This record gives sequence, C-alpha cells and structure tokens, in this order.
Amino acid sequence: MLLKKKGQKTREKPQENCAIFGVTCNDLGYSVSHLLYHGLIALQHRGQESTGISILKTGGKIFTYKKNGLVSKVLEEKIISQYWGNVGIGHNRYATTGAVGFKSSLYMQPFHFKNNEIEFSMAFNGTIANFDEIKKNMDQMGRVFMTDTDTEVLAQLIGSIALGTEDWPEILKLTSRLLDGSYSLILMTSEGDIYAMRDPLGFKPLCIGELKSEQRNLYFVASESCAIDTVGGNFLRDVKPGEIVHLSHQKDIHSELVIKTNRTAMCQFEYVYFARPDSIIDGVSVAEARLRLGMNLAKNDPILKDLEIRENAIVVPVPDSGRSVAVGYAKEAKLPYAEGLMKNRYVHRTFIMPGQLKRKIAVKEKLNPIKSVVEGKDIILLDDSVVRGTTTQQIVSLLREKGGAKRVHLRVSCPPIISPCYMGIDFPTKDELIAGRFQNLYGEDYLDEIQKSIGSDTLLYQTIDDLTDAIGMNRNQLCLACLTGDYQLKSVQKLAELEKSIVKSRT
Ligand code: SF4
Repeated sequence: MLLKKKGQKTREKPQENCAIFGVTCNDLGYSVSHLLYHGLIALQHRGQESTGISILKTGGKIFTYKKNGLVSKVLEEKIISQYWGNVGIGHNRYATTGAVGFKSSLYMQPFHFKNNEIEFSMAFNGTIANFDEIKKNMDQMGRVFMTDTDTEVLAQLIGSIALGTEDWPEILKLTSRLLDGSYSLILMTSEGDIYAMRDPLGFKPLCIGELKSEQRNLYFVASESCAIDTVGGNFLRDVKPGEIVHLSHQKDIHSELVIKTNRTAMCQFEYVYFARPDSIIDGVSVAEARLRLGMNLAKNDPILKDLEIRENAIVVPVPDSGRSVAVGYAKEAKLPYAEGLMKNRYVHRTFIMPGQLKRKIAVKEKLNPIKSVVEGKDIILLDDSVVRGTTTQQIVSLLREKGGAKRVHLRVSCPPIISPCYMGIDFPTKDELIAGRFQNLYGEDYLDEIQKSIGSDTLLYQTIDDLTDAIGMNRNQLCLACLTGDYQLKSVQKLAELEKSIVKSRT
C-alpha cells in the first residue's frame, strides 16, 4: 500500500485516497440511506473509483453494498430504497490503478467484518504505515487474510482485540495504541453505534454535525464539513487528533481524547488542493486559506515592481484548482483576473495516460487558451502545485504558442514538492517529482533549472513560512513532509531513507 506497485501509474496531481461519511438517527422508522447518498456525493472529489454503504437494519443486521463507479451510478434509487435503516456509514474510494485486484469488492469499503463473536462495518481514510508488521504478528496467530490491504489488517486487529473485551471505546483505544499511521476512521457496530476516530497526529480531516427537529435527532460524521452542509446538518466541530467520538442514536455524542501529543500533523495539501473550498478543516476555512495563499504570493512578487509588465499583465488561473489562489493574487496585486484557459469538463483521467506523446495530446484535449484574452499579454499564471512538471510545461507552451501570450510568469501556491508522501496519498516517487529530482541534480540552483525546464519567463513558488501563515497554523501543527522531507511517523522515516538512497544512487 505504501510503495507504488509495478505498472501502477500516478496521476499528475497527488490524489486523496478516500472519503467517509456516517449518519445515525434516533427514529427507528427513518432510513438514513438517502442522506448517505447526498453526503457521499458531496465528498466525491476525494475518491471516484468505488462507492459503498453499510446500513444497520432493524434486528441488528448489517447490510453492505459496494461497487465500482461514481456515487450517482452505484447508489441508484432502487438500492437506496432496498438498504433501509436508521444507522449507516459510507465510503468513496480512490484506487491506485494497477494495484492487483483493485476492482474486486474485497478492496472496496465499507469493510464488513463478522465472526462468531463480533460484527461491525468500518470505513477508513488513510494508511497504516506499520501494517506489514501487524499483519506478520497476526499471521503468526493464525489469522487468514483475503487481501493485502491495511484496511483488512485494521479490521482483523479490531476483531482480535474484541475477543478480550466488549467495550468498544476500550477496543478502539487499544487498537490506536498499536497503529502507526495517518487515519480517520468510522466504525458501525451491530448494536447501532457509530465510533469515529482520528489518528493522534490528525493527518486527515474528520468532523461531526447534527440536525435536531421535533421528529428526530440526526448525528453526522464526515471527512469534510461540506458533506454535513449538503445534508442540511449543522457543523458541530472537528474530531480532535487522538480522539474517539461515540455517536449514539439513543444517547447523544460522547467523546474521549485517548492519545494526546505535543504536536499535530494536519496535511497541508488539504488546504492547497484536496479539500473542497467550502469546507472548514480544523477551524480554518479552505477557501480563505487559498485566497491568502494567493495574496501572499503577490506580496512577495518582484515582477509587480516592473511597470512594463504590470501594465500589460492579467492574472490567469489553471482551472479549476488555481482559481481561488488567482483571485487572492489579483486582489492583492490590484491586477485584472481573467479566465484565459478553457477547460473541457468531459475529458476524464487525462493524466494517467502513459507515454509523453499521449500526455501532450491529452493536455491539449483538456485545456485550450482563449486567444482573445491572452494574446500579447503578460500572463501571471496561478497553479496550486507543480508535481512532475510535465503538464505545467505543456500549459505554458500552449499559452505562448497557441494563445500568443507575450510572456508567461508562473506562480505556484504550494512550495516546491521535494519528497513523496507515504501517508495514504497517491503520490509520485522522489525521482518523478520535478523539484525533488532537480534539487538532487542541481543543488541551490534547482529553481532556475525548473523554470528552464517548464519554459516560463519567471517562476515564483510560495515559501513554507507564507504557506503556514496563509493556513493560520504553525509548523508543529501541519504535516509538511513532502516539502521538507521530515516525516512524523516512525515507520515512514525508514521508507523515506530507503527511497532517498535509491535516488542518490541513480544521480
Ligand atoms: S507528505 Fe504532503 S501530501 Fe502527504 S500528508 Fe504530508 S503534507 Fe499531506
């Protein structure tokens, strides 16, 4: 799960792996499955390969339905009406294409676990970095695994711990002490309780909400607050790093902070790219953070002092993810914002096409410069991140050659990405990251070399200090590992060292 498998292609942009959503209602005559549908639709951006739901039907039986495809295709009306119950959880999955068996329902979630003693269903976003070690120990205890996923290892671990106690908070507390990973997890028991748990460093977002009326009370747990808004709920708060929250359809919400650490490691990429702008994560509005990222770039941009460029400049986003940051930049720079690139919304999966030529064609299919807007102009081009650099190079060349832009000035809201992510994000290797590779090759001059390779007239990246300032958190609250190479998880530190030595031996 952590290292890419042979033949596996990574998308141009890093990709968040999953979304989770759960609902519980005190009215036994009310079905929550349509709310699961709407919550999962709102979280579709976090995973598009498969969708699944588990519903607790009257009598304490859990029924799970999961299939490859988008939420709207998988959870059709007839499924929604068939899966009827007052407690349920759901999951959207992004599969690492090429991973063996990824189309099998065994690899989809929720993961339904049942043995003679216990039954539960679990949905999970993240990765368990020490899952190999846990699996080895459980293999020795005679456990049989059907997949090679950390999801199953986690479910089996929970199942094993449950042999010793029936107290769910205790089971989850003991589980969390054995895990080294980045995870947000929801678990539905056959008694009708939902437990939500976030890892002690809080890499992945998770929040809770409610909707109370005279007829019934509903409680929600979601990867992002936009899902709670979508189902008409009121956002209550984030689940704290290291906290277990119990949502009970009979009692209310109870919580316990099981592991407290002196730092957290919320993924900075959630604010830069992954999360929906209308979400609030750990108290920070994603839209506002992106606006400030753009403003910070403009504050430090030397080209804004060049009057010739200023008078001829327009601020153009790379659609769609560069928009908020471009608005922030244009506002701070007091320059016009313009849509200079047309995006074809019907071209999907552009960036998993193998081969350089196919990739070039795919970019042209997906993006087209609007000549009447960009011709003769100094384009200040705003993108959220530069990962491999190949697509960015294509866009710069399209603007200049097809659009007739006079100059292209690339501004990037994420600082240079020099190291891979091992925390459950589908990410290129260090060798594939343009900033990681060029830093090894050219040392201090690596940014000049990136600019030459991309072909922009100027290049400016956000600094890490400006990034943390825009998010409104300090370095001890965020994961910045892909920007610094400093990993917080012990099991990941070893992997990072291994990859570093492989890259060094190649350069
Ligand atoms: S390494 Fe980067 S992408 Fe991965 S969790 Fe940390 S900040 Fe997020």
